[in-house]
Amino acid sequence: MPTETQTRRGRCPTHGTVEATRDLPRITFPWVVNWIRRTLAERHPFRCPECGTTVQVP
Ligand SMILES: [Zn+2]
Repeated sequence: MPTETQTRRGRCPTHGTVEATRDLPRITFPWVVNWIRRTLAERHPFRCPECGTTVQVP
């Protein structure tokens, strides 16, 4: 499944301010399936690229 990577500046407890990333499914058809996938993906936390720890984002 094709994905897009979202990047957001967040705060890792170990590394301080980092560019945290997460992968989300791209827009596909049917949109309702995609909407469900994206809703689930939105629950995926951003993660530190250095250590993989969940990063708190504003
Ligand atoms: Zn880290």
